[in-house]
Amino acid sequence: MARDFYIYNTLTHRKELFKPVHPGMVGMYVCGPTVYGDAHLGHARPGITYDVLFRLFRKLGYKVRYVRNITDVGHLENDADTGEDKIAKKARLEQLEPMEVVQTYTLRYHEAMRMLGVLPPSIEPRASGHIIEQIALVKKILDAGYAYESNGSIYFDVAKYDEKHHYGILSGRNLEDTREGTRNLDGQDDKRSPLDFALWKKASPEHIMHWPSPWSEGFPGWHLECSAMSEKYLGEVFDIHGGGMDLMFPHHECELAQNTASRGQGGVHYWMHNNMITIKGQKMGKSLGNFITLEELFTGKNDVLDQAYSPMTVRFFILQAHYRSPLDFSNEALQAAEKGLRRMMQAAKDVKALPTDAKAPANEEVATLTDRVYEALCDDLNTPIALSVLFDAVRIVNSVKDKSLAINPADRDTLASLFSDVLTDVLGLQEETADAASGKLVDGLIGMIVDVRAKAKAAKDWATSDHIRDQLKALGVQIKDTKDGCEWTVE
Ligand code: ZN
Repeated sequence: MARDFYIYNTLTHRKELFKPVHPGMVGMYVCGPTVYGDAHLGHARPGITYDVLFRLFRKLGYKVRYVRNITDVGHLENDADTGEDKIAKKARLEQLEPMEVVQTYTLRYHEAMRMLGVLPPSIEPRASGHIIEQIALVKKILDAGYAYESNGSIYFDVAKYDEKHHYGILSGRNLEDTREGTRNLDGQDDKRSPLDFALWKKASPEHIMHWPSPWSEGFPGWHLECSAMSEKYLGEVFDIHGGGMDLMFPHHECELAQNTASRGQGGVHYWMHNNMITIKGQKMGKSLGNFITLEELFTGKNDVLDQAYSPMTVRFFILQAHYRSPLDFSNEALQAAEKGLRRMMQAAKDVKALPTDAKAPANEEVATLTDRVYEALCDDLNTPIALSVLFDAVRIVNSVKDKSLAINPADRDTLASLFSDVLTDVLGLQEETADAASGKLVDGLIGMIVDVRAKAKAAKDWATSDHIRDQLKALGVQIKDTKDGCEWTVE
């Protein structure tokens, strides 16, 4: 499907026509999670935003290589160069191997993303598996003269870099602003300037994750992994680099500087940043008591939540806002999303069995829907407009259903493909079988059947009672008779 795609480039601050480096192909890199804790609401937005972008490009006929990394090393406490590695700290507190921490939370992250309908990326590289590439990159930056060694650590020389290039170009800062915003932290004596950031850190004796390098037994700086892995899998120049707005500075700024220092160019054509989710206007944070993990969101087990919200409700809620707009979380907004989603999914189901009238004239509105919805999606991923176009389709479906409107078979097919191509394939919104509501229904139904069996037993109707027990067993429901009646469990 040949359609122009317009993308807002954070680097140039404007919407640009997307032109891929290699015709027909898209290379995109997105900063993935640091795996030292449960996936939370903050992970849902980038997960879903770049998933829709990935799906849209594929629908438009591109071959897409989507790389989303796992940060499993070198991400220090204060996101700078001091403090403890978050994964190592978690490992120490829970008496685990760091890789056990990484494995546990990577699996949980994958499960949460799967529930949210987020497709796995094409490649999911881990920082710890790319130490060789990162050391090679440090060497290149040293050779180019933009880094220096100090006590076994290697630092990026920001002032030197800024003489020829512009450090701060991505986040719209100049060196002076950056200097003012940087605290002089203890333990940074190795650096020439507090602005300099670590490419390689010599490990202190208690640091458990470390690797040999020409400079010291140590570990790579956080920003380095994304420069090294994006180059390895997407090449020196690639199309899109995405992530949350909170990563723009210092993480992406430093990546851009590392790329430029090592290859003479930034290497990324379009920088893309999603806005953040706030909770009742506040930033989400553990210290603010409003931190919500995705598991809590799906089960309702958090005091902030009035109820459980299904993964698709969360997905719908996120797509109702443009990815560059802030999005405020509240129970009211989630409940409204739940209703909207239900209406949408009902119409997507109804459209398949919609009655048609071969004599009905072509519907003018139906004829516009497909173009309108792709126009919105191709306008920098405008999902709220795309959803509003789909709601126009819902209205038409409902009018046909209540017989106030007749459409011909061709129009019905157009509506049906709109739901399957856009709602399901691109927006990734699917019928939920195991959501909270249907879980409640299943529980109720099993309870009812177990009750019928108890009555049959009481009436000494053994044939019926055994039949129900065996049928339930075949479905994975175990019934156990106890003194007080009967208990059941699902395998
Ligand atoms: Zn990154």
